[in-house]
Amino acid sequence: MSDPTRSTDTKIVAIANQKGGVGKTTTTINLAASLVAEGLRVLIIDLDPQGNASTGLGIEGSAREYTTYELLLDNVALSDVILDTATDGLKIVPATVDLSSADIELMSNEKRSFLLHDALRQPLMDDYAFDYILIDCPPSLNLLTVNAMVASHSVLVPLQSEFFALEGLSQLMLTIREVRQTANPNLRIEGVVLTMFDARNNLSQQVENDARENLGDIVFQTKIPRNVRVSEAPSFAVPVLDYDPMSKGAKAYGDLAREVIANNAKLSA
Ligand code: ADP
Ligand code: MG
Repeated sequence: MSDPTRSTDTKIVAIANQKGGVGKTTTTINLAASLVAEGLRVLIIDLDPQGNASTGLGIEGSAREYTTYELLLDNVALSDVILDTATDGLKIVPATVDLSSADIELMSNEKRSFLLHDALRQPLMDDYAFDYILIDCPPSLNLLTVNAMVASHSVLVPLQSEFFALEGLSQLMLTIREVRQTANPNLRIEGVVLTMFDARNNLSQQVENDARENLGDIVFQTKIPRNVRVSEAPSFAVPVLDYDPMSKGAKAYGDLAREVIANNAKLSA
């Protein structure tokens, strides 16, 4: 969004990997909270029908009257879909299982790949002055994920430090290339972040070596360790930074946030 009339230069980042359980939602919630801790204003878009990001931030089912579904398909006002979380400066557009039918409903829509893009570029968005919008993608390369990539400036890929981690990455990269060719030529790769890293496990080390060798400097220096505080935080409906700020997990997500901010500073220099 380089439109000079905008009051804010919002960076939109899709958190994507078509594998389930690799740390997309965990990274979305905790990177967002750490960006807020750096003084930034952040919006999470929950784009997964499972709604884990919404649940992990304590958004009750009864509060999800208007969701990402209505944002995409029903032209509901932004002020009705954007909710506060318990973390000051962190807001969310929640999701429910309704979103699972959106993928099919989108197919017959002429603007099917651009609905999220258009929704996030409503003039009203300026009033919120978000520095970052993080989109928690579903575990699939479906039309929802394509919507996220078309709407975004960059894609951040969580890579679980386990066997077969790099498998499927080429398909993800192919999808990014297709989106560049058809709809969003400037889509960047924000980076690949190793998640659930276990320094005592040779396999984790091997995945790191393979990733750095094959993917080069798009791999973030920061690795997110496997940390029980990270996995406990969602049941307390808060990011790990609010649950246990001294935990290894909270510190790692803080490092990741500073790397993301530094990336962006380099780009605009
Ligand atoms: P995805 O959104 O890609 O499906 P999640 O973020 O939901 O993946 O993570 C899958 C599971 O792994 C969740 O139960 C989550 O709590 C756990 N998890 C993710 N990251 C960590 C971590 N760094 N340490 C411990 N558990 C983690
Ligand atoms: Mg998820």
